[in-house]
Amino acid sequence: MGNLWERVERLIGHDNLTLLAEKKVGVVGLGSGGGFVALSLAMSGLRDFVLVDNDKLESGNVTRHVADLRYVGENKAAAVADLIRQRNPDARIDVREGSIEDHWDCLDDLDILVAAVDNEQVKYAINEQCLKKRVSASYAGVYERGEGGDHVIIKPFAGPCYACWAEATREGVKISLNPVGDLDYGMIGEMGTLDAEPGLWVNVTKVAGIQTDLVINELLRGTSAHEELPANTLIVANSTLDIIEGQESEPHSGLWIEIERDPDCLVCGERLKQGVSLLTQDEDDTISLEDLAASGLTTDIVFGDEDN
Ligand SMILES: [Zn+2]
Repeated sequence: MGNLWERVERLIGHDNLTLLAEKKVGVVGLGSGGGFVALSLAMSGLRDFVLVDNDKLESGNVTRHVADLRYVGENKAAAVADLIRQRNPDARIDVREGSIEDHWDCLDDLDILVAAVDNEQVKYAINEQCLKKRVSASYAGVYERGEGGDHVIIKPFAGPCYACWAEATREGVKISLNPVGDLDYGMIGEMGTLDAEPGLWVNVTKVAGIQTDLVINELLRGTSAHEELPANTLIVANSTLDIIEGQESEPHSGLWIEIERDPDCLVCGERLKQGVSLLTQDEDDTISLEDLAASGLTTDIVFGDEDN
């Protein structure tokens, strides 16, 4: 069979390939984007994965998925795991068939999480867990009909969390506390997704390819192969796109923008962060951010007025 990794090693170097082989990546959502990212990471030298999906592959999926008709009826995470093993027989893959809400433990020893679910509400739940467990996460979005997309890596309490990032970048997102004290992120379409019409495979995989590249770049932080990026968010135009109002981006161009953290964010704001560390000192890290929000710790009652 020869050395599978000879060419990759020549490109990124022996030490970097060894480093990537020691990293563990989680991918939640093995649809057209997540499946492509997982397989591409494996083809770049990653071999330790946890893959989470609750969906079975349908025949209607195969024109926009790395798995083909042979996998129809199989769980998408299991299908992608099989494809990864065909590229990297040394891969260690923990397949979780089910919803991420039943598998939060799989975040515990990750170097990075790829949040590739369509449902925005699930992304917010992932965001809260990643903050709590201090796991960095990569989020990519493909715009309606694939006319563009965006990507951000969220690092817990350094820069924005996904909630304050989405509030700045997504129309209709407004984080508030509802009357019973739970976090409410506002409505984003009937299904909780950005837009109903997905893009073609070429458009989705373009964004997913960029996502893969940026995830690898993040995993190589501290090495000579790591590249410092101009900002935390990349917006990609597949067709002519109004990224900044009144300014048209040309087809197949990209724009880096920096989204700041909202210090008053109800999810990652200063008060909540202090509340987490105060409460977890005694409670063995068992309290959730939802509990905190519901407990009223985000109000002035506990921490007083910090504005002075
Ligand atoms: Zn936030």
